[in-house]
Parts: sequence; C-alpha cells; structure tokens
Amino acid sequence: MHGRCGHISDTDAQPLVINSHLGRFAIVTVAKIVNLDEIEKQLLNDKMHFAELSSGKTNQTELVALLIIQGNSFVDGIENVFRHIKGSCSMLLLTEDGIIAARDKWGRTPIVVGRKDGAYAATSESTAFANLGYAIDRYIGPGEIVRLRPDGVEVMRPADEPMQICSFLWVYYGFPTSSYEGRNVEQVRYENGRIMGAEDQTEADCVCGIPDSGVGMALGYAAGLGKPYQRAISKYTPTWPRSFTPSNQEMRSLVAKMKLIPNRAMLEGKRVLFCDDSIVRGTQLRDNVKVLFEDGVKEVHMRIACPPLIYGCPFIGFTSSKSDMELITRRIIKELEGDADKNLAEYAKTDSPCYNKMVDIIRERLGLTTLKFNKLETLVKAIGLPKCKLCTHCFDGSSCF
Ligand code: SF4
Repeated sequence: MHGRCGHISDTDAQPLVINSHLGRFAIVTVAKIVNLDEIEKQLLNDKMHFAELSSGKTNQTELVALLIIQGNSFVDGIENVFRHIKGSCSMLLLTEDGIIAARDKWGRTPIVVGRKDGAYAATSESTAFANLGYAIDRYIGPGEIVRLRPDGVEVMRPADEPMQICSFLWVYYGFPTSSYEGRNVEQVRYENGRIMGAEDQTEADCVCGIPDSGVGMALGYAAGLGKPYQRAISKYTPTWPRSFTPSNQEMRSLVAKMKLIPNRAMLEGKRVLFCDDSIVRGTQLRDNVKVLFEDGVKEVHMRIACPPLIYGCPFIGFTSSKSDMELITRRIIKELEGDADKNLAEYAKTDSPCYNKMVDIIRERLGLTTLKFNKLETLVKAIGLPKCKLCTHCFDGSSCF
C-alpha cells in the first residue's frame, strides 16, 4: 500500500512523524487551539514532553499527537482531542494501516474524501483532486472519523448531528474550485453577488472584482445589476508563487499591495462598482482606493460579500484578525461608545441606526463614494445550507461550543 500525507505552509512544522504504542503515524492538522497553554501544562504534569516548536511556540500538531497517544486506540485518542480542545481541529493521520481522517467535532473546517481507481484520498480543499484524477466521494461529517484504504472507506466513528462549518470559507478562504458540503465556492460567490446586484439601484458604468476572492462575486453582481464586468484591477502573481500568506502583517500588506495593479485605461472617468470579500482592518482597502482615484476613477462604489466583521474568530487558525481590536468596526465602536464591547448586537443588526452610522464612518475613512455590506440572510441563502449548520459568529456573535 502507498500513502502520503502533507500540508502546504511556509512556516508550520508539520506533518510530524510519531512512534507510539498505537504504532508509527504521520499527522497533519488544520487547527486553532485556544486553550493550548492549559493543555500543555496538563501534558507536562503527566510527564509528557514536547520536541517541536512552531514560530517559537508549542507546535499544536505535536500537542494533538500527544493527546491522541493518551488513548487506547486511534478513535479513543482522537475523541480525547475533541474533549480537550477549545477552538477547532481537523486532522489526517497516515498510519501503518491506511489514512485516518477526522473532522473537527463541530465541523468548522471541512474534510473531503476523493476516489479514483484503486485509491482514496482526503483533503480539506477539494481543489486538490481535479488534476490528480480524483472525484469527490463524500464529505466527512462533524466529528466523523474514517479510515481510507485502497479498497474502501471504513467509518470508525459516525458523524455528530450538529454542524457549525465556517461560512467565511465561501466568502474568503476557499479556492474557487473547492466545494464544501456539496456547495462549490465559485457558485456560491456568484450567487451571492447576483442576489446583491439584483437589489442594488446604483448607477455604475461597470462592475469589477478585487482579485481573487472578489471576482466570482463581481461576475454575479454584474449579472444581477445588468452592467458589464470589467477588469479595472488585475493581480500580478509570478513573483509570489507560494500561495499562503506570510505570517508577518507588514509583509502581508506589502505583498497584497504589490500584487494588485490598477488599469488606468479602464478606470479614467468611470463610475466603477467594486466587489471585495470583506473588510478586516480596512488599511489595505483604503490604500487601494487612493490609488484608484489617482488613476482617474470618478466614483468608487464598494460592495462587500459579507456583513461587517464585528467579532474576532475564536475557532479557526487562518483568520486574518488576531484580536477584536484589529477590526475596523471595533475601533469605530470604541470611538462612538467609549467601549469597544458596547452594544455589539445593535452594530451587527443590518440597517439599525448604530449599524448605519458605523458603515458610514467606514465609508468615509476608506474614501469611498458608497459602501454596502451584504446581509447575513443573503449570504446564508447563497451558501444554501440551513443557518443553524453554519458558523456566523464573526458577523452576529452567535456561538455554539
Ligand atoms: S467565527 Fe467567522 S471565521 Fe471563525 S469559524 Fe465562525 S464564521 Fe468562520
């Protein structure tokens, strides 16, 4: 039997290979462990040790591996992980007897199984399958554990009923050709934009997506609004072949800025409606908008694929906001209320006086002609799953541990 297990990252030290009483295995995780320090202390008290570091901190994949080997079996050990961690953790284990795939117990991050003749594979991004000749076989459910062998898939632990898959996957994180829960990223983005566009009365000459994640939405928006889609901004990528973002914020901003190139020929004298995935800090967008006006654009109408991000994400590791106070919304709430945590539910409510005031201040600070965020109902409708199965915490504060 042939097996491989891997992870694309410039910084993360994984996969790790562990030899244990359960046998030898390699492990990769997609995780955010909020109570890492607490679990680390417990494990050290249990006379366990850590050999790996990740950016100077405890390597969370190693911590997960140590929790697994406390179990009497792989299933028992993975359930031990589910019981201990706060945050989320999906993982793949390459064992001596097949690949074990275990999805986070709330299903915040996905795992998809692919199949081709004589082989199975598992990934968090189904985009990986297309060029390797795999077709999607099934989506693993929340808390489900399966074992893949060349001849089939064995369910080792059935899925739990409740699910809280990250809705932001479709907005921002996902690659267009990936699908989660049977819902394709590009299709969702298109539909999201189409519904928003059909409700918009703005007089614009054309619609343009901010690459990459705003493009699918902008194509739909153009169809809904009945205006042409045009590429007034293009993305230049050859010098940055690695797809994952640098962890240092300053570097990230510089890379993001250098990659986007405005096209004066398409901008001069035009009223352009732009689509973007989200606004986190707003600094990058503000810089981009400045450049657009320098290049002669007449009006910049910005449309955002999701509602304002009011709450930081405590569940998954790849979110771009590290704390609530990095969010432009919270900084404005602090200015208005004297307390960044006050009246959050009101600010999260579309078209409430608090919401409208906050959105107008964001518009002004970013130098936009108009600014509209999507409604949560529209986003949920475009994703096509029941709201109770989606995590929407960063928009409305709802949570489920
Ligand atoms: S809080 Fe937001 S980013 Fe985090 S899992 Fe929920 S929807 Fe996704």
